[in-house]
Amino acid sequence: MSEVVVHQPEPADSLTWQVGNVTVQRCLETVTEMSPRYLLPGLSRELVASLPDWTAPFFTPEGMMLLSVHSFVVQSGGLTVVVDTCIADHSDHPLPGDAEFANRLAAAIPGGLEAVDYVVCTHMHFDHVGWNTRLVDGEWVPTFPNARYLVSKDELAGTQANDSMGVMEPSITPLIERGMLDAVESDHRIDENLSLVPSAGHSPGHVCVMIESAGEHALITGDSFHSPAQLAHPEVSATYADTDSAAATATRHRLLERFTDTDTLVLGTHFARPTAGRIRSGTDRVWFDTDL
Ligand SMILES: [Zn+2]
Repeated sequence: MSEVVVHQPEPADSLTWQVGNVTVQRCLETVTEMSPRYLLPGLSRELVASLPDWTAPFFTPEGMMLLSVHSFVVQSGGLTVVVDTCIADHSDHPLPGDAEFANRLAAAIPGGLEAVDYVVCTHMHFDHVGWNTRLVDGEWVPTFPNARYLVSKDELAGTQANDSMGVMEPSITPLIERGMLDAVESDHRIDENLSLVPSAGHSPGHVCVMIESAGEHALITGDSFHSPAQLAHPEVSATYADTDSAAATATRHRLLERFTDTDTLVLGTHFARPTAGRIRSGTDRVWFDTDL
């Protein structure tokens, strides 16, 4: 696609956060520079031009949106959990993946890909399940051979009914056939620190991931928000990608109500560097405080 510019990862893209006793590491596949209206039609040129200064890291000076695609690697107790597996390089998707990403991920995880206990798919869009598997000698094999893969029941059912992105055959069915996929409730608890937060709208059974440890909190957004600009403008939806934009907007309002002016660190699944911050109420609209 001519309007998409891809940035190569650099050392500064390696980010880590501590949430109580839980460590969260960002592993970047790609950052693409795109017209905001390509994904978020409500983000008009005029609206982008009117955004406050705190949104600057998430746009180019020319007003193009920086869309990051990254996995979060979560170390909780003895568990290693990968939240979302990005795009991969095996399909002709509208966003390009990076063939080297699995190697970067393996290097970033102590013990490598074999050490991953759980893979959480916040939802089953191509840029979240792409590296669930790899094509080896013509066969789709799990990238994380010892992991349980978790998706919400509603998400699996919704995707089986309408697999518009073609993710079942390469990225999901091979896991089902090997008995490695667990379809769980949307509020499933993984361990004492990690649980899923129902947040349907962008997709039928979308979930966020809540981290709670030693009195500290963090939320991995998935695609409930694609850009921090939506924190200030929750009415802006990913119209073409959403299953139900009205429900997606209601979900954003609900999450803002719950997390604004709390200590919860918000980790944006598509938020470009610095990726994490806290939602603060302002005089007019909320803002994203990335000064941690
Ligand atoms: Zn996405």
